[in-house]
Amino acid sequence: MRKPIIAGNWKMNKTAAEAKAFAEAVKGAIPSKDIVDSVVGSPALFIQELVAEAKGTELQISAQNCYFENAGAFTGETSPAALADLGVTYVIIGHSERREYFHETDEDINKKAKAIFANGMTPILCCGESLETYEAGKTAEWIEGQITAGLSGLTDAQVSELVIAYEPIWAIGTGKSADANIADDICGVVRATVEKLYGKEVAEKVRIQYGGSVKPENIAEYLAKENVDGALVGGASLEPQSFLALLEAV
Ligand code: 13P
Repeated sequence: MRKPIIAGNWKMNKTAAEAKAFAEAVKGAIPSKDIVDSVVGSPALFIQELVAEAKGTELQISAQNCYFENAGAFTGETSPAALADLGVTYVIIGHSERREYFHETDEDINKKAKAIFANGMTPILCCGESLETYEAGKTAEWIEGQITAGLSGLTDAQVSELVIAYEPIWAIGTGKSADANIADDICGVVRATVEKLYGKEVAEKVRIQYGGSVKPENIAEYLAKENVDGALVGGASLEPQSFLALLEAV
């Protein structure tokens, strides 16, 4: 059985004081890691403080991006080796906001996935289609293309560990969440693509999240679906009570 993974993606929100207050508020109430992986995706600025706050609890800290080199003349970038050294366990890569606003390509994302694994962390690799692609009925082929490119050259063992987040762009931050059956279908397309590339055993292990306007009131509908193993949550992960309510749904 695949263990659910609920990850908050704070995006570019909070100050250091707010991040610390969040961790203090939730850390006594995080469920056991035997039941669910509970993850907060923080801006790089607050990671050190959050890891310190989370010490001795089941709360895990994720970055929202990193570079694909460990060190060197790459002004403004974040080293995956340095993130691992701080105690980060997951790194979100290929979020649609990074693809759109920062021009990240499938090739960049693939290199980042390899660098994250090389440093002993786990990528949360995002995929998702635009409203235009969705309305044209081309979601499945779009997702298959993103996954095939993103996974290029990864090993069976790496893909077995990987987390993939399906986030339709039209559902992100819009309040217009995808119908749970659609989410299940497309997460099924992700799994079928992994099966085509890596075989059934690996495809049964890879964890697939749905993301896009998930909140405490609707998360259970997604988690009940066969192909959905968790959620990647933006807005509803920002407040401690809301984050804890997401975890309680598991
Ligand atoms: P919302 O939950 O705010 O729609 O954001 C989803 C998302 O982009 C998570 O990565």
